[in-house]
Amino acid sequence: TRDQISYFGAGPAPLPTPVIEESAKALVNFEDTGLGLSEISHRSPTANKILADAKSALSILYDFPLEGENAYDVLFMQGGGTGEFSASVQACVGWWVERRRRRAVADLGEGKEDEVIERVRKEIKEELKVDYLVTGSWSLKASQEAARLIGSKYINVATDARKANNGKFGKIPQEKEWQLTDSKKSAMVYWCDNETVDGVEMPSFPESLKGRGEDDGVVVADMSSNFVSRKLNVKDYGIIFGGAQKNLGIAGITVIIVRRSLLALTPKADFLQRLSDVLPSAIPPVVFEFATIAKNNSLYNTLPIFNLYIATLVLQSLVKTFEEKKVSGQEELANRKAELIYDTLDKYADAYHVVPDKSARSRMNICFRIKSRGEGDPGTWDEAREKAFLASAEKKNLMGLKGHRSVGGIRASNYNAVTMPSVQKLVAHLVEFAATG
Ligand code: PMP
Repeated sequence: TRDQISYFGAGPAPLPTPVIEESAKALVNFEDTGLGLSEISHRSPTANKILADAKSALSILYDFPLEGENAYDVLFMQGGGTGEFSASVQACVGWWVERRRRRAVADLGEGKEDEVIERVRKEIKEELKVDYLVTGSWSLKASQEAARLIGSKYINVATDARKANNGKFGKIPQEKEWQLTDSKKSAMVYWCDNETVDGVEMPSFPESLKGRGEDDGVVVADMSSNFVSRKLNVKDYGIIFGGAQKNLGIAGITVIIVRRSLLALTPKADFLQRLSDVLPSAIPPVVFEFATIAKNNSLYNTLPIFNLYIATLVLQSLVKTFEEKKVSGQEELANRKAELIYDTLDKYADAYHVVPDKSARSRMNICFRIKSRGEGDPGTWDEAREKAFLASAEKKNLMGLKGHRSVGGIRASNYNAVTMPSVQKLVAHLVEFAATG
């Protein structure tokens, strides 16, 4: 049964059993309507209520306004986290171009379209940059996608964490070493808040990015693998996004929290078309254009309401469980679980090596290696012992612990639905295994 299995997979990931049970019912017969949730219209009152409930629960948990001057829009889209690699850079570059267009119109006057185009073209060539903090495999992929779409000349890798760490991810360079573009020239600064493959998490919101205003490069964070797992100030960000399949639900839906005032800066496609000689792919496909999705309450095209329903149940259960503590309550729990695992790994340092540096250890994806014993060089990993670790773990129903294929080793993902008893079982296994060999 589900209770017997402890699953530490990195995504898709476990969901709370009551949520899975409730959604299983809804798939067959939603609230005794005789129809399943995947069979009804995404434009029905039922679907609209689920959408509204999801937004409301998320705004409670993260404590941000859905209305008023500093409002944020919550969008639900498809295309996964990967889709947002493309959508985020296209949106931010578009907003940058529109700001420059408005400024040119203000300076040159109405009706001077050709001159406006000329000036914006020149500014793009001379000034436009998008900044990436490359701290792991996913931010690297996002920066590569940006280069593919808009051209590598516009990409500024403000930091590449591999450079000061023997060519490997695992440590985030200090902020004073980042080479950020002047914020007025930058269209955005992007990072991945939790690097799922490398086990690296941004320890806190970067000081140097605090207080960015409407004219500054937009702050964008990929929170696919640490969504609703710690407190943050939404107002520090222009865009937060995450695929649902780790902390929130099942694959097939992506959540975007975006500052509403930015959406008003979305440029007209025909203006961008006239700049395609310098900006080849800055126009997003319509399903990836935030302003269009926001205007249509995420129902521009068919939204997978069943997937949204699961995320809604998860969000509502977090609201209920942690009450006035909101997401800080989940953060405390996540921290306690992660500490238990890291403390054990550190205690048995002759058996285990935690891959990332202490300063950047992820609370969500705990990546470690198993050291050689006896004859082996103590600085190297023993893949045979790692296999033995995984095999003996599986015998105890501790599943999903294999590291990402690109880096190997062991990875214990500690997402929100991984329970404390599961973590305790893993810890017991770590202690027991350390004594072998
Ligand atoms: N960002 C992060 C941090 C991820 O962990 C992942 C997937 N594991 C992605 C982006 C890509 O997400 P998707 O597979 O939903 O496109």
